[in-house]
Amino acid sequence: MDLSTAMRTDMCGQLSAADIGRTITVCGWVDRRREHGEHLAFVDLRDHTGVLQCVVDGSRDLRSEYVVSMTGEVRPRPEGTVNPDLSTGEVEVDVKSVEILSKAEPPPFPMDERTGVDETIRLRHRYVDLRKARMQRNLRTRALVNSTIRSAMEAQGFTEIETPMLIASTPEGARDFVVPSRKEPGSFYALPQSPQLFKQLCMVGGFDRYYQIARCLRDEDLRADRQFEFMQLDAEASFVTQDDVFEFISRTVADVSEAVTGERPAEIPEISWLDSMERFGNDKPDMRFGMELVELTPVFSDTEARVFQAECVKGICLSGGAESLSRNQVDGLVDDCKHWGAKGLAWMRVIDDDGSTKLDAGVAKFLSAQEGSDVIAALDAEPGDMVFLVADKRSMVRRVLGLLRLALGRLPVGEGGLKFVWVVDFPLFESIGDDGSPVPAHHPFTMPHPDDMQHLDDGGEALLEVRSQSYDLVLNGWELGSGSVRIHRADIQSRIFELLGIGVEEAQAKFGFLLDAFRYGAPPHAGFAFGIDRLTALLAGEENIREVIAFPKTQSGADPLTNAPGPLDSTQLEELGLRVLPSST
Ligand code: ASP
Repeated sequence: MDLSTAMRTDMCGQLSAADIGRTITVCGWVDRRREHGEHLAFVDLRDHTGVLQCVVDGSRDLRSEYVVSMTGEVRPRPEGTVNPDLSTGEVEVDVKSVEILSKAEPPPFPMDERTGVDETIRLRHRYVDLRKARMQRNLRTRALVNSTIRSAMEAQGFTEIETPMLIASTPEGARDFVVPSRKEPGSFYALPQSPQLFKQLCMVGGFDRYYQIARCLRDEDLRADRQFEFMQLDAEASFVTQDDVFEFISRTVADVSEAVTGERPAEIPEISWLDSMERFGNDKPDMRFGMELVELTPVFSDTEARVFQAECVKGICLSGGAESLSRNQVDGLVDDCKHWGAKGLAWMRVIDDDGSTKLDAGVAKFLSAQEGSDVIAALDAEPGDMVFLVADKRSMVRRVLGLLRLALGRLPVGEGGLKFVWVVDFPLFESIGDDGSPVPAHHPFTMPHPDDMQHLDDGGEALLEVRSQSYDLVLNGWELGSGSVRIHRADIQSRIFELLGIGVEEAQAKFGFLLDAFRYGAPPHAGFAFGIDRLTALLAGEENIREVIAFPKTQSGADPLTNAPGPLDSTQLEELGLRVLPSST
C-alpha cells in the first residue's frame, strides 16, 4: 500500500533493489547505530514496516529511539554485507540530509525482542513496547480479526447494532462494575457483563440478525486468559435453531482463521457435554491430541483389588511412556494427582513378555490376568507404553485424569493446528446452591432441552440432569465462547426465574422490561458470543491475551500506565454523594 505523505516518500521496510538510484525520504525511529570508520555511522531506521540501513555522517548525534527524517539515495549494499534476513537487506541509503523531529531519552528497556522485560515495566511504558515488531504484528492481526468478523457477519445478513454501556445489571455470573449516578445520588449504573438483554430486545424489535463487536466488563479474578474488560463478537438471530447458529459462527471463525493463517480449518465437529466430560475429563477438550480417558469400570466390576473397587475406574495410555518417563517423573505425577484430589494414581508399564503383551511394575501385581489383558485391550496399549488408572467417584476420576491428560499431552500454543469443537447439550444447572436453588450453567435466559422440559418439576438433585439448549465453542482446549437458544416466552422465563429462586418481585424489578417485551410478540431466537482476545491470542501463537491487547491491565487488575484504579478527589466524591470508609486493613 502506498503510505507516502507530505513528509515521506517511502516506508523503511518497503525499499528494495528495485529502488536503487532513487532519492527518497523516510521517517521513523533510530533502531540501532553502529560506527563505521571515523566519519560514518550506520543507522537502522525503523517504522512499522521494517528497518532500513542508512549511512550517515558519524558526527550527527542520533541516538536510540530519536525520531528522524532522512533523505538520500538508495544504493546497493557493498558486496558481502547483504543481509538475507531483512526485506531491505540488499540496499542502504546514502543519506544526504537528516532532520531530528524529536529527541528521545534512552528507552526504559532494551528494544530487542530477545531480552525478557518485566511485564509491569512494559505496561508502564506501553507506548514504547508497542513499537516492537511482536506487538505491531499482534495488534495488526487483531485488526484483521475484527475486520474479517465484520465482513463475515455482514455477508450473512447480520446488522451491527450498538448497545449501551451504562445499564442495569446483566446476569452473566460475575460481579458487576458499577458507576455511581451524579443526578441521582445513591443510584448506580452497571457496566454490561455482555449485551445479552439488549440483543434479545433487538430480536423482539424485529432486527432478525444482530451482531456487535462488544466490550464486556466483569469484575472477576484475572488469569492469563482473562481481563476485567474484554471484547467479544456478540450475535443473535431470530427464527433459527442451534444448527443455524453453528453455521453462522463456524463460517465466521473459519474466515478469520483463514485470513490470519492462510489455512481454512476443517468442518467443526460436535461433542456432547457428557461425552466430553467422559472422554476428556472437562468441557473444553483439547482435540489436538488423543490420549482419551477410557472407561474401565466394567473391567473391574468384580475385582479383588481394593484400589479398583470404586464407583468409576478410567485409564489413559501414554504412548512410549514406559521409556520416556523416569521413575521420578512418575512419582511427581502421582503427587500431582493427589494434589488434584485423587486418592492416588495407579500406573503400570506395558511390556513384551515373550511375544505377549503384559502389564508390569506399579500396581500390575494386584490385577488378575483377565483384568490385565482387558486393560491392555481397552486402552489399545502396546509394549513400551505406560498406562495410568484412577479409581474414585466419577466426577473425581474425570477431573484428575483430565488434568493428567493435559499435563502429559498438551502442546504449546501455536502447535498442532487449529482444532475447533462445538460442545453441546450442557446441563441447564451446574449445581444446587446453599439455598437449595439451582445455579444456572449459562445464564437464566437459556431454553431447556425440549426432551427434558417435563423434568423441570422434579426438583432437587434431579434438576442437574436437565439438559439445556446451550453450547460452547472450544479451540485447542480454550473456551472461545458460548451461546444458547433463548427462552422467548414470558411463562417459561418466569418459571425459570422461580426455579432459580428469583421471586416474582425481584424478577419484575430486575428483568421486568424483558418479560414485558416478551408479552408483545417475541420471535424464537438464539445467539452466541466468542472472545476476540482469546481467538486472536491463539491465532497469533500467544499464551497470554495481554499480548494481543493494546493497553491491558496487569494480572492484579492495575494499569501501570495511567495508574488506574485511583482515588477520587473529595469534590468528585461529594458530587456523587459518596463517602469512602476507612479501609479495615
Ligand atoms: N451473553 C453470553 C456471554 O456473553 C453469550 C450468549 O449467550 O450469547 O457469554
